[in-house]
Amino acid sequence: MNKFKRAVDFLRKAEKIAVLTGAGVSAESGVPTFRGRGGLWKKYRAEELATPEAFERDPILVWKFYDYRRQLISKVNPNKSHEILAKWETLFEKITIVTQNIDGLHQRAGSKNVIELHGNIWEARCIKENKVFRYKENPISEFPPKCPDCGSLIRPNVVWFGESLNQNILNFSFSLFEKSDLALVIGTSSVVYPAAHLPILTKKSGGKIMEINIEETSLTILSDIFLKGKASEILKVIDSLI
Ligand code: NAD
Repeated sequence: MNKFKRAVDFLRKAEKIAVLTGAGVSAESGVPTFRGRGGLWKKYRAEELATPEAFERDPILVWKFYDYRRQLISKVNPNKSHEILAKWETLFEKITIVTQNIDGLHQRAGSKNVIELHGNIWEARCIKENKVFRYKENPISEFPPKCPDCGSLIRPNVVWFGESLNQNILNFSFSLFEKSDLALVIGTSSVVYPAAHLPILTKKSGGKIMEINIEETSLTILSDIFLKGKASEILKVIDSLI
C-alpha cells in the first residue's frame, strides 16, 4: 500500500484523532515561521523578541513586533490545509486540533474544536490585574498600549519562549493525545516543549503518529508515516482519497 493510502487507512480506522499544528501550516498563508526564512523582523530574530525578558527590557519594541505580525495576519487568509482540516471535522466523528499557532486561522477556516496552546495574537493581558481581553486595534495607535480599565501596561496574551503554558489547557491536551489512536502532526519543528511531547503520548498508549513536514524533524523517527512536502499539497492528496 502506498503512503497516501496508508494515511487514509489510519484516518478511517482511528476513533479519535488529535491534530497538532505548528507554524508550517500557516506558512502557506504568508505568515512566516520563526525558524525559517522570514523569521527576521528588522534586525531581530523573532525568537529573541518573543520572550518575557525582551518585554521587560523594551515593551515598545516587542509591541511593535506584534503590531507588525497582527497587521500581517489580518491581511492573510486560511489556506487549503486549514480548510481541509475544517472539512474533516464534519467527516470524522472525533477530531480535535491543538495548535501552537496564535493567528486564529483554523477558526477562520471553520474549525470548531481548536485548542490554542500558545494563546491568541488578538488577545491582550493586563500585567497588573492579569485580566485577559480581546484587543483588536489594528494598527496599534499608541505604544506601548495600556489597559483600558486601570492604565497599566498590557502584553500580548501569548506564551513566550521560557514561559509556562496554561495548566488546564496543557492537562486537556495531554489527556487528548493519550486517548487518541492517531496523532496527526503538521508543520511543526517538534523542538518546542511541551507541545513536542504530545504525539509521543499517543504512541506510548498504543496509537500511531502521522507527520507532515517539508523536512524531517526529531519526531520523524517515531512516526508511523512521514509524508514529506508542503502541508496543503499532502493534505489535498489525502483528502482526494478519502
Ligand atoms: P517553527 O517555526 O519552529 O517550525 C515550523 C515547521 O514547519 C518547520 O519544521 C518547517 O520545516 C515546517 N514547515 C514550513 N513550511 C511548511 C509547509 N508549507 N508545510 C509543512 N511544513 C512546513 O514553528 P513551531 O514549531 O510552530 O514553533 C514556533 C512557535 O512560535 C510556535 O509555538 C508559535 O507559538 C509561534 N509562532 C506562531 C506562528 C503563527 O501563529 N502562525 C508563526 C510563527 C511562530
